[in-house]
Amino acid sequence: MLRNGLYIIATPIGNLRDISSRAVETLCDADIIACEDSRVSKKLFSLLGIGINKKFISYEDHSEEQKAQMIIDFINQGNSVALISDAGSPLISDPGYKLVRLCRKQGIYITAIPGACAVITALQLSGLPTNRFMFAGFIPNKDKARGDLFEELKNINTTLVFYETAPRLLKTLARALEIFGNREISIARELTKMYEEVICGSFTEAINHFAQNEPRGEFVLIIAPAQEKQSSVIDIKEILRKRLGETSLKTAVKEISEEYKLAKNDVYSMALELKNEQLP
Ligand code: SAM
Repeated sequence: MLRNGLYIIATPIGNLRDISSRAVETLCDADIIACEDSRVSKKLFSLLGIGINKKFISYEDHSEEQKAQMIIDFINQGNSVALISDAGSPLISDPGYKLVRLCRKQGIYITAIPGACAVITALQLSGLPTNRFMFAGFIPNKDKARGDLFEELKNINTTLVFYETAPRLLKTLARALEIFGNREISIARELTKMYEEVICGSFTEAINHFAQNEPRGEFVLIIAPAQEKQSSVIDIKEILRKRLGETSLKTAVKEISEEYKLAKNDVYSMALELKNEQLP
């Protein structure tokens, strides 16, 4: 029997066997399951062979605040409540933080049973630095908001991790290329599932890949830290400086952006800066 409190439980992000035995035991023993979509959670329970003769309550983004108090009332009445999301770790681009905050304020017992999380799995597979990383959640859909976010993050010296959906992936990559330059990236798709795939390379390589292979499934986009870009920018600047002495600005920009797979706009701005530096 579980003591009354809140149990934050990770469920699989694809492969059903990625759930811990402690998670399964706790889901079996909990009095109430707080979940995003009870149909999704009941399906998971039935696949795991867990009975569904308990109370399921929905806990979604738009009802978070009012539902949080209801859940706390259940806990104060002596119930154990398991919080799960449709997939993966609750609270990671999923609801839950307001509930945890309220539980903390009211001195309610809380524990977490860790498990699958797409951010961490993608990072482990990326080959990019993991000592410092920043998870920036979902990339906004509106072009202006997307560009603003990228501008805000472009000089941060940590690996950047984002969630993205299939229909938006190519648009996002194109915009990111303009702002970050042709940095090293890793794109993880359908992690732990049958068609798991990790594409590593530059933005332009990834764009070429997904222009030929329609993006399908769920994605995590990881971008190398700014510092790596800065050192390559210095190298490119030197090469560009030399080339500007040999040929026209237009030709130098064209050649270098093609040769080093860089966004033409970035190389053009760099070339203008160099030209201005040379002015008396
Ligand atoms: N809380 C979840 C977690 O722990 O990762 C994430 C929930 S968020 C609503 C869903 C997003 O996570 C997807 O749009 C995708 O970007 C990412 N994601 C979830 N499962 C994934 C998988 N198997 N492979 C790649 N990305 C995944």
